Amino acid sequence: MTAQTYCGRFAPSPTGPLHLGSLVTALASYLEARTHQGSWLIRIEDLDPLRESSEAVDLILHSLHAHGLEADQPVRFQSQRHGAYAEAVQSLFAHHRAYRCGCSRTYLKANDGRHSEACRTRSANLEDRPHAIRFALSDELSQWRDNLLGPQSQTVWSELDDPVLVRKEGFYAYQLAVVVDDIDQGITHVVRGSDLLEMTAQQQQIYQALEAEPPAWLHIPVILNSDGQKLSKQNHAPALDDAEAGKNLTTALTALGQAPPKGLARRSPADIMTWAVSHWRRDRIPREPQSVQGLREREPDQSQTDRPGTDVL
Ligand code: GLU
Repeated sequence: MTAQTYCGRFAPSPTGPLHLGSLVTALASYLEARTHQGSWLIRIEDLDPLRESSEAVDLILHSLHAHGLEADQPVRFQSQRHGAYAEAVQSLFAHHRAYRCGCSRTYLKANDGRHSEACRTRSANLEDRPHAIRFALSDELSQWRDNLLGPQSQTVWSELDDPVLVRKEGFYAYQLAVVVDDIDQGITHVVRGSDLLEMTAQQQQIYQALEAEPPAWLHIPVILNSDGQKLSKQNHAPALDDAEAGKNLTTALTALGQAPPKGLARRSPADIMTWAVSHWRRDRIPREPQSVQGLREREPDQSQTDRPGTDVL
């Protein structure tokens, strides 16, 4: 790979403001891109107007800016990309990799996720009735390499796992849009939370069906709250306080195993990024989920009154 070919991204769904877990992901993808002399993009994955808000979009973009995470291109919004997703679905139909599915969630749940007999082949008869559009996976033992976690292998079952491309309500689904945009934006390296690890094999099949090369993957451990749950809006993760950007960044660096020095939290986000880029070590990222409590304990003592900057840059 030549240095110029690296393109990374951060792609939040705007279901709420950024929290520490999302900052860790954003920071890791940013630092990986910068240390490969690559470009870094922000994409708002606003596919579901029922769960997302423009207020959350504003908060996310404000937080990224406040934390010194500046993108190299204008922010992309998936809500403006429906034409591209429709084209991709047509192409998947043309290649017999998409089908209409009328199975209800209740039916699938009661049947261990198995579709009604011949669900795939009845596809055409459903055109006038509410239906989802699914991707037809191939059965496979998928083997690939994660740039942090090493060799991965996952069994993919067709029908059982077939991901939704277009939901019954008519919204384009994450699995389709993420792949279409990563291809269109020329993303070469995806860095994201390990909660998405199990999606990777399916997404690689969608890449191949769209005749594109999958990117390199790096899944970083999620951050857990004191109850051992992943930090998320559903679990009431506190929003980042943008006024505390320095502290948030050094906590995120600690989560990424980068051991920021004492006093760094009091520097500007730009200074902290300069430190982080020049000290970034991918091999220090922990492989296991990190707890917020554990991070607090490991943080360098920020209360000391050492002269800012004497020991950090
Ligand atoms: N939009 C997804 C999320 O917020 C992330 C997509 C990805 O990084 O692949 O969870």
